[in-house]
Amino acid sequence: MRDGFRIFDTHTHIGVARHSGRTFTADEMLSKMERHGVDRSMLIPFPVVEDYRATHDLLASAVRAYPGRFDAAVCLNPFVPEAEFRDEVRRCAEELGFRAIKLQPQYQALNPVSARSDFFYETALRHRLPVIVHTGAGAPFALPSLYILPARRFPDLPIVLGHAGGGLYSLETIVAATVCPNIFIELSSVMPHHIAEIMAHVPASRLMAGSDLPVSVETEIGKILTMEMADSDRREILWDTPAALFGG
Ligand SMILES: [Zn+2]
Repeated sequence: MRDGFRIFDTHTHIGVARHSGRTFTADEMLSKMERHGVDRSMLIPFPVVEDYRATHDLLASAVRAYPGRFDAAVCLNPFVPEAEFRDEVRRCAEELGFRAIKLQPQYQALNPVSARSDFFYETALRHRLPVIVHTGAGAPFALPSLYILPARRFPDLPIVLGHAGGGLYSLETIVAATVCPNIFIELSSVMPHHIAEIMAHVPASRLMAGSDLPVSVETEIGKILTMEMADSDRREILWDTPAALFGG
């Protein structure tokens, strides 16, 4: 809680990233949350890890250790054998209680418009896991507009466009959310003027905040707390929209 607002950080990473060398622990994230008034955070594995099962277990142990403070998302290379992919998503959803599934097309090159990718969306839908997809860097597969087609093929599947297209492609998120009621936008890594432009078209009931990394909690949550907008919109972005989507 900060300035009277409950805060849900819907996108952050802990664990060890093989590709970048970044390492963050649940305790580091929790201390950032305490310092900056974040009530709850969605923990997501980095897209390239040494052992995805061990990483999921690490996230699950953080969820158990701090009840009510963390949720967790599944993330693994979709090109492991398909049965293995489906089984790990099932394990995370049914046994570990995970609440979302992440696709990071910059490092996991799934073509989002190909029918060959349907197994990903079908698996998410089967376990009622909203999809969080990284958008921006990693084009073309990370282009926000490409998620219009799966959103239409799977109208009951919520798809969150992470990082709002990363600035360069933020206008595409407006198009995608306008034509697909099941598309949501997560606002980390874009500037306040991008957010204002998105808010001119997309209701706050489909927007949410994220930090992307523990080191960015103050900056990313701070921009939502301080930029000009109605407090009713701020309340939806910071809590109501993600709490409804991921389960309050
Ligand atoms: Zn991410």
